[in-house]
Amino acid sequence: MTDANRYADPADRLNGEEYHSGKPCMENGCDNPAGTAWSPLWCQPCNVMCIERIGAALKAVELTFADINPSNVGRINKSSTSGGLIDD
Ligand SMILES: [Zn+2]
Repeated sequence: MTDANRYADPADRLNGEEYHSGKPCMENGCDNPAGTAWSPLWCQPCNVMCIERIGAALKAVELTFADINPSNVGRINKSSTSGGLIDD
């Protein structure tokens, strides 16, 4: 488990009970306790699905961006103040 995917480790302290919000998970059909270090709204397994959906959507944007202008490939900068899509 790397620092980048700690959200996926149910045993990680950032997924511990101290982050539970006291409310049920907001995902339809899920009654697990909500709350992780990443969000007070979802339980840990649903938070993983949520983060992975967001990651897939961002990857699609990245691929579309690269397709529109191939010179943008490799310009993704995660520390950027512009949101990481292009270098500042
Ligand atoms: Zn859930």
